[in-house]
Amino acid sequence: MYRLTSCFPSFFRPFRTLERLITLSNNGKLCREMSTYVRDTRAVQILKENDDLCKDALERGVFTVLYDMKPLLVKATGRRGLSIPWWDTNELMQKLFQLRMDPEAILPQCVLLNGCTEQHTTRFAFNISSKNIAGTKDVPSDLQTQVEETFGASVFNVRKALFVVSPTEGQLMSQAHSLLSWHASHQFCSQCGGNSTKNLAGSKRRCAACEAEHYPQMAPVGIVLVSHEDKCLLARQKQFPPGMYSALAGFCDMGESLEDTVRREVAEEVGLEVDTVSYMSSQHWPFPHSSIMLGCNATVRSMELEVDKTELEDAQWFSLPQIQVALMAGPLGFDHSKKTSESIPLWIPPREAIAHQLIRNWAEKKLKSL
Ligand SMILES: [Zn+2]
Repeated sequence: MYRLTSCFPSFFRPFRTLERLITLSNNGKLCREMSTYVRDTRAVQILKENDDLCKDALERGVFTVLYDMKPLLVKATGRRGLSIPWWDTNELMQKLFQLRMDPEAILPQCVLLNGCTEQHTTRFAFNISSKNIAGTKDVPSDLQTQVEETFGASVFNVRKALFVVSPTEGQLMSQAHSLLSWHASHQFCSQCGGNSTKNLAGSKRRCAACEAEHYPQMAPVGIVLVSHEDKCLLARQKQFPPGMYSALAGFCDMGESLEDTVRREVAEEVGLEVDTVSYMSSQHWPFPHSSIMLGCNATVRSMELEVDKTELEDAQWFSLPQIQVALMAGPLGFDHSKKTSESIPLWIPPREAIAHQLIRNWAEKKLKSL
């Protein structure tokens, strides 16, 4: 059994309790005056700005691990699917020792995740990279296997993993992947090219040379379900799995409102003029480099499509019965290698995706109006 404080005295300092953090976050107000959510949120907010307190939180936090930006997952207990395993600091120390990695080099690369556990414990994520060997004494050729065996978990593709964990875990995984990827690709200052350093929580980077501060950024994307009377419009890109159709989507341009983006994307991709636009809900999506998907509904004035084949492989109008069948069937998955594209029925993104929610919401509203 490794004792944390004796192994890493220089990194960890005497523990300050979460209660003290909460007191700080409330400016001295009694904790019971605030909801649990507000207290946890304010505690995390303080950790994002205070490296000393964040060091203390690291000692009492729980950790999830990614390998080459792919999450380590375990089979979920009591339900189908997979789950994110969390390790406390001592468990993590032991496993890093087994892998002959130096926690002093690894732990400062952690990022703090939003929210807390039900026990008000702060959550952190870190990535073990096969390319960046900082903190690894010897780099074994079978590092992934060693990591999987040591942690008792398996490495999963993020895109697929997002749809097999719970929505809450999907959100945490999305944040962990995006934040860690942003730090990995923003090592240098965009103003002067100097080395930049992350703060301990990973909420920003600071350039040592010009002192500029850089914050993680994400790209807004308008995703829109276009409808006309009793039909809705779905499209597919070449890289989609066979049979899958989804809502239209595109990045917001500089200077545009969300409504402008929706109007432009629909005009560009299918040659239709939007009549009305309404916002429904949003979802973070970690690809290609962290996006916020802003889900909208739009109606159009005609149904005559002129599909931009450089953007889309196909776009079609679907009736309510066709959508109902697709909703009941659920996603077919990715293994259609033996089927021809003609024999594959329409399927739509899984329930956890905002595109699915847009389609389901439209179908339910149409059913109610019949
Ligand atoms: Zn700089």
